[in-house]
Amino acid sequence: MSDCLFCRIVGKEIQAKIVYEDDHTLAFDDINPQAPVHVLVIPKRHLSSVQEMSAHDQSLLAHVFLASTKVATQKGLDAAGYRLVTNTGRDGGQTVFHMHVHILGGRHMSWPPG
Ligand code: 5GP
Ligand code: ZN
Repeated sequence: MSDCLFCRIVGKEIQAKIVYEDDHTLAFDDINPQAPVHVLVIPKRHLSSVQEMSAHDQSLLAHVFLASTKVATQKGLDAAGYRLVTNTGRDGGQTVFHMHVHILGGRHMSWPPG
C-alpha cells in the first residue's frame, strides 16, 4: 500500500468524489474547498511536484493541463474563467507531495495570493 495520499486515491483505497478520469489523470473534489468549485487534477503516476517533472514528462504535463481545462468546462467555468494553481514545495505552500493542479472557480479570485 502506498503511503502517498493521492496514490491511494488513484488506487481507490481512499474515497474521493471523482469528477473526471482518463488513462493518465484523475480529478476529484478537494476535501476542503476554497471556492464553489475546487477540484484537484493529478497525474496517476506518482511525481512529487511539478519541479520533479522533466522533458520525459512533457506529454503528461500537457495532459494534466488539458484535463484541467476539460474539467473546468464540464463544471461550467469556461465563460467566466477560473484559476489553475500548482503549489510547489515548502514556500509554495504544497502540503500533499503528489503533483496536482487546483481548479478554483465559481467566484472572483483576488490577486496577489497570500
Ligand atoms: P496543496 O496544499 O498541496 O497544494 O493541496 C493539497 C490539497 O489536498 C488541499 O487543498 C487539501 O484540502 C486537499 N486534500 C488533503 N487531503 C485530502 C483528501 O483526503 N481528499 C481530498 N479530496 N482532498 C484532500
Ligand atoms: Zn503519489
